Amino acid sequence: MNLILMGLPGAGKGTQAEKIVEKYQIPHISTGDMFRLAIKEGTELGNKAKSFMDKGELVPDEVTIGIVRERLSKDDCKKGFLLDGFPRTVAQAQALEDLLTDMEQSLDYVLHVDVPKDDLVKRLTGRRICPDCGATYHVIYNPPKQEGICDKDGATLIQRKDDQPETVSKRLEVNLEQTQPMLDFYRDKGYLVSINGSQEISKVFQDIDDKLGELA
Ligand code: AMP
Repeated sequence: MNLILMGLPGAGKGTQAEKIVEKYQIPHISTGDMFRLAIKEGTELGNKAKSFMDKGELVPDEVTIGIVRERLSKDDCKKGFLLDGFPRTVAQAQALEDLLTDMEQSLDYVLHVDVPKDDLVKRLTGRRICPDCGATYHVIYNPPKQEGICDKDGATLIQRKDDQPETVSKRLEVNLEQTQPMLDFYRDKGYLVSINGSQEISKVFQDIDDKLGELA
């Protein structure tokens, strides 16, 4: 099964990706992870990607499409794949279509884990960090035993600047603007499946699994 997973930060995409690849035994192909690994290993690709990633910009399409092409040609992708973080532009989406056609393959579904922006703001702004030991908490999903205090060392928890409501809201807005053209592209082609990401984690996965069951 050939899949793409999409969703805004905080939508729970990572959690669902883990569950999908575990159940269906297909490789999880995250371009962000591939770039981070290349940087860690100091490869030529890593050097190219680093300058863009450090600035928070997208790595150029040519480079990104190149690594995806190489990855999809590996043997483990014969039974399918789950793309995560790719495509990020319509040019990448178009290149992926061409690539799959060359491989005599096609996409099955583009799974969009959909959560309203206001709910994402609530999820993302709830994170609290211990300034001393780095432990992370969430005011709703993973609260410390005593409000505002680190369980491990008793320090007063803080909220990181990029977790503050205005910053989070702006980041989501930018992300939404970038994602929308891809959602439209895949909706037009009939691949897009919207999954209600506001439900419990297990229910979100159940909905994905029900949809994937149709491919069996
Ligand atoms: P991520 O872990 O998916 O948030 O990706 C981290 C960073 O890697 C992004 O901010 C980009 O700089 C780069 N990156 C990951 N995927 C892509 C992509 N499909 N196209 C361009 N840049 C990407």
